[in-house]
Amino acid sequence: MSGFRLQIVTPDGSVYDGQAEALRLRTSEGYVSIRAGHADYIAALDIGMVSVTKNGTTRDAACGGGFVSVEKGEVRLVATTFEYADDIDVERAESAKKRAEERLAQAREERDIAIAKAKLSRALNRIDVAEKSG
Ligand code: ATP
Repeated sequence: MSGFRLQIVTPDGSVYDGQAEALRLRTSEGYVSIRAGHADYIAALDIGMVSVTKNGTTRDAACGGGFVSVEKGEVRLVATTFEYADDIDVERAESAKKRAEERLAQAREERDIAIAKAKLSRALNRIDVAEKSG
């Protein structure tokens, strides 16, 4: 399978810069797959799973949102958070989930509700990705 250059960056720095054969990610309009030859493109990412295929092997990761762009055949994923399934600390995600549920139960203001929901969604996504890949 032919490939393309893939860059994955987070606020902490570069996660990956090299060749890949496929990238599947959750955009605000649903899951999309990107392969070599994809047209120029830009999309916002939702909290969800990202699957990176390289050398015939696919690795899943939890992504906290961000955006993806394809420009002249090069793909750039800018993620707010990105952890490969093997790097996810499930206990930490379980406690984050519990804290977010408690916060959500007590939240009265819209902003607080939105923050709690986003934290819950990130924790559930991490648990989901770790379980699917475990
Ligand atoms: P927590 O309350 O546990 O910090 P959070 O959802 O508020 O969870 P984020 O703001 O999404 O955390 O992430 C902060 C940093 O910690 C990021 O670098 C992210 O990759 C990392 N991170 C958060 N949770 C986990 C986890 N369960 N396993 C591995 N890395 C994590």
